[in-house]
Amino acid sequence: MNVGDTEIVVSVMQQEGYVYTDNIEEADVILINTCSIRDNAEQRIWGRLTDLKRYRRAKPGLVIGIIGCMAERLKEKLVEGPYGVDIVSGPDAYRDLPRLVRGAEAGGKGINVLLSTEETYAEIAPVRLDRNGVSAFVAIMRGCNNFCSYCVVPYTRGRERSRDPQTIVSEARTLFENGYREVTLLGQNVNSYKAGDVGFPELMQRVAAISPLLRVRFATSHPKDISDGLLEVMASMPNICRAIHLPAQSGSTSMLGRMNRKYTREWYLDRVAAIRRYLPDCGITTDLIAGFSGETEEEHAQTLSLMREVGYDFAFMFKYSERPGTYAEKHLPDDVPDEVKSQRLSEIIALQNELGHASNLRDVDSEFEVLVEGTSKRDKNQLSGRTSQNKVVVFDRGGHNVGDYVRVRITGCTPATLFGEEIV
Ligand code: SAH
Ligand code: SF4
Repeated sequence: MNVGDTEIVVSVMQQEGYVYTDNIEEADVILINTCSIRDNAEQRIWGRLTDLKRYRRAKPGLVIGIIGCMAERLKEKLVEGPYGVDIVSGPDAYRDLPRLVRGAEAGGKGINVLLSTEETYAEIAPVRLDRNGVSAFVAIMRGCNNFCSYCVVPYTRGRERSRDPQTIVSEARTLFENGYREVTLLGQNVNSYKAGDVGFPELMQRVAAISPLLRVRFATSHPKDISDGLLEVMASMPNICRAIHLPAQSGSTSMLGRMNRKYTREWYLDRVAAIRRYLPDCGITTDLIAGFSGETEEEHAQTLSLMREVGYDFAFMFKYSERPGTYAEKHLPDDVPDEVKSQRLSEIIALQNELGHASNLRDVDSEFEVLVEGTSKRDKNQLSGRTSQNKVVVFDRGGHNVGDYVRVRITGCTPATLFGEEIV
């Protein structure tokens, strides 16, 4: 989501005559796009601001800004104090950045952290910063109304709003015409996309109808809202990728209640069963949190057992980090000792390594269509790409290039990568 936002910011700045550079020495304006989801994300930014002090000494007129969720959360605190940045802009204020930058160039400080109920940057064409020219993110909605008790997103990114479907389809079509072969539709909870009478399944259908050669992915699905209607649309269009990211957070119904996730373990497993029914070859991945408020050994064991029962292909796994302003920070004590959180997280990671490897081993000898994304990091005679299930496959280049679809048989794997050969 932040990569997508950065591409919007670059577009807004370019319209005002600024030029993007990835050489920091050359920059007159440095904008740091930030995340507040866990404390360590914010700590990295403080570290970055410390590093930037030497650039400021070297170039006295340099403008430094913090944008995104940390800007929204800390507001004027960021222009005060030892770091004293020049600009603070929240996620809904990016159109105002050129004005804020000009003010800072004139020696002032600029803050805009107003949240909007409408801003979707719908008609702004993001400037694509990724270099592969094959896959791109397309934001379809902003904000979140779910208020999971541990989560800062509803406070930093504001209320949920959906972008006009025509602008989404035309952005995806332009990407396809420019050689892109994969779009990922982005939102905090894509299943609740609603613009007029267009819901998410219909939006997916419209984007996937652009061309059978355009792969469509999406993230993230909230388990409470993933519908049979969506799964039917997916099953009917082979270019909608067989991959669903379905964050469970925990395998324990009592814990899910404290997290305010609005589903039970049984509901979650029923949704997984529905996915397997409609899309037998679908990859399923997840997010898990270890050590949330009051987590008992039994609740932790339930998370491990859910992981085994689903057999996730991949997971993002986190230690609970208390975030200021959330319901949990106010009402649910952060009472699992740090060593216990770490221990549980390492158990979760160890199990997922096993499950991920088992999932890769199941693919050996099977055939997949791979979309080539680049040259392998280790060997330039090899290409790397992804299956519809979102797994990375490395294979001999043959006559192929980035952006080609290649049919590949899997010949071996490591826990993280599949190796294959082209089927000729
Ligand atoms: N909207 C997405 C998640 C976005 S945040 C969804 O609900 O699925 C990405 C992930 O960060 C979450 O799924 C959760 O696992 C993790 N996360 C969010 N808040 C956290 C916190 N306070 N501590 C640790 N992990 C957190
Ligand atoms: Fe955070 Fe929950 Fe919204 Fe995801 S659905 S962004 S975890 S509040």
